[in-house]
Amino acid sequence: MGTATGIIRALNSGIKHIAVKRFTLRYPEQKLKFVGDGYQYDPTSGVGIAGYKGRHILFHDKCTGCNLCSIACEGIAEAIAMPKVQNTWKQNKKSIMPQIDYGKCVFCGLCVDACPFYALYMTNDYELSSFTKEGLIYTPEQLAVKPQVQQDSEIIIDKRGARHG
Ligand code: SF4
Ligand code: SF4
Repeated sequence: MGTATGIIRALNSGIKHIAVKRFTLRYPEQKLKFVGDGYQYDPTSGVGIAGYKGRHILFHDKCTGCNLCSIACEGIAEAIAMPKVQNTWKQNKKSIMPQIDYGKCVFCGLCVDACPFYALYMTNDYELSSFTKEGLIYTPEQLAVKPQVQQDSEIIIDKRGARHG
């Protein structure tokens, strides 16, 4: 490609974006809304269900304490510990469930992929900041609470790229 052709292509690419609405939100007044409920994985079909990889949700009535989520995280971030839980569940003889340290988690979703019992998914919650390191550690009880996400600005994706509504 010659220099002149390169310049024309670069100008053309730049000009196309002049009329595109800016992708800027007035956070925290406006919050980006994601499509779907968050990243999930179907262990039966072996297929991931696309979604945002935010804070996890843990279903205590499905978790067996098998430890596979923790093992999956070991080589990534070592963010999962398996403490004892207060309540007893017949499918979980050891009464242990995952606890996630969001100071270490890289939101890769491998723990969700590793769970054979539909017990661990991810959600659209991305507001996890804390003043302390301890505040970033979510116990099994905290992970069981469905996050209340208030997100209003949807992403619109078309030929001209992505923008918010
Ligand atoms: S999403 Fe977080 S907790 Fe799960 S495997 Fe990845 S780093 Fe570990
Ligand atoms: S969340 Fe899933 S992988 Fe992790 S201990 Fe519970 S059942 Fe096993």
